[in-house]
Amino acid sequence: MKTLHVSIVTPDGPVYDSEVDMLSTKAESGELGILRGHIPMVAPLQIGAVRLNKGSETEYVAVSGGFLEVRPEKVTILAQTAERSESIDIARAEEAKHRAEDRLQGKQDAVDFKRAELALKRAMNRIDVYSHK
Ligand code: ATP
Repeated sequence: MKTLHVSIVTPDGPVYDSEVDMLSTKAESGELGILRGHIPMVAPLQIGAVRLNKGSETEYVAVSGGFLEVRPEKVTILAQTAERSESIDIARAEEAKHRAEDRLQGKQDAVDFKRAELALKRAMNRIDVYSHK
């Protein structure tokens, strides 16, 4: 099978750059599965995992939203943050999750509520991706 080049880039630099058989992730519009030869498109991503399959190997990268740009031979993901499962600090993610949960229990204005909800999503996503290590 011909491969697809995947680059995942953040403001701090590249996080992933490799050939894969298939990329799967959640766009705002729903689940996406991309193989080489896909029609060009741009889609906003949710806070979620990017799954990368190559042969019998599967890798996961946690991304906090951003955009996915598809060309027939290449996918580029531009995300505010992205971590491969092996570089996730699980203690930090657990702490962030507890902090966000505590904030969501308290009385908050709408802005803080939304912010805590997003922080909780990022933390839960990192914990999920770490579990695939
Ligand atoms: P925290 O409250 O722990 O900072 P956060 O969700 O607010 O979590 P972000 O603003 O999304 O953190 O990310 C800030 C930077 O820290 C990014 O470079 C991101 O990749 C990194 N980062 C955040 N959490 C973790 C983690 N658990 N393990 C590894 N890197 C992390």
